[in-house]
Amino acid sequence: MLIDTYGRVATDLRVSLTDRCNLRCTYCMPEEGLSWLAKPDLLTDEEIVRLVRVAVTALGVTEVRFTGGEPLLRPGLVGIVQECAALEPRPQLSLTTNGIGLGRTAAALKEAGLDRVNVSLDTLRPEVFKTLTRRDRHQDVLAGLAAAHEAGLTPVKVNSVLMPGHNADEAPDLLAWAVAHDYELRFIEQMPLDAQHGWKREGMITAGDILASLRTRFTLTEEAGERGSAPAERWLVDGGPHRVGVIGSVTRPFCAACDRTRLTADGQIRTCLFASEETDLRAALRSGAPDEELARIWRQAMWGKKAGSGLDDPSFLQPQRPMSAIGG
Ligand code: SAM
Ligand code: SF4
Repeated sequence: MLIDTYGRVATDLRVSLTDRCNLRCTYCMPEEGLSWLAKPDLLTDEEIVRLVRVAVTALGVTEVRFTGGEPLLRPGLVGIVQECAALEPRPQLSLTTNGIGLGRTAAALKEAGLDRVNVSLDTLRPEVFKTLTRRDRHQDVLAGLAAAHEAGLTPVKVNSVLMPGHNADEAPDLLAWAVAHDYELRFIEQMPLDAQHGWKREGMITAGDILASLRTRFTLTEEAGERGSAPAERWLVDGGPHRVGVIGSVTRPFCAACDRTRLTADGQIRTCLFASEETDLRAALRSGAPDEELARIWRQAMWGKKAGSGLDDPSFLQPQRPMSAIGG
């Protein structure tokens, strides 16, 4: 298993399939000037499947989420999903995507064995979408969401980041829309992971702000039971059955229950989104290491996982890699 010195066990693997993207969300990427990982440095489809196999068969990983960058830009995605779905024990497979192109691929992904999707959508207003993402693709995302639901990639979850001056007032509208479409909405606090290092704690929209805004229109009841390792605190909307989640990574961190391990598109293990160190699994892989050695390196990396994100530490330094290259 992937255990750390604080007794946490990582069973949830996030795999970044590419650092490239067809949007330029302001909280993630700069408008231009971000250089991409070099093609030879990227893990091949076969290398990704092999590392997922090691994680699932030797290290106790039970859930695999593909992300990026934009994972739908990876040509081999359907094949990767298919191979991972054939592993024993079969992991839960999900995808975090901006939804562009999902209209065309949702059915094939479901067929290949994908279980669920999270689609990122921050606004219901096409003009706000255009300024937030710097691309005019709102309609494509809505079409992608509908296709995912239709294909049975359910529950379809929607991730929204609220940004001051853009969509800060949209929480209740987004929730009403999500309930009407049977999507499960989760708000994510903006984190200091943008490539431009423009994040400021002052003025950021907090989990508390989001809940207060939602309560102007809905009755939210905290769900009974433990939050466990799930980052989202969830509330029943107007008595249920619909739920809404809020991921307060900055103001309500969940590090003590974290069960994640991460693999970047260039084969680096990250113990945390905010980690400043990485462990190079690609070098071992390409030098011919057997599975047992890859598993040993992974275990050792996770053993060194820090207690928390360090966000509240005055000496906190934003990681070198932006969110798009870590895999959110
Ligand atoms: N491109 C895909 C997408 O947008 O869903 C997958 C990668 S993206 C990095 C994964 C998630 O991270 C998205 O829901 C996005 O909104 C979120 N994200 C990106 N930058 C963020 C930031 N600085 N703070 C909080 N969430 C962020
Ligand atoms: Fe692309 Fe996702 Fe980053 Fe937006 S959040 S720029 S869609 S990787």
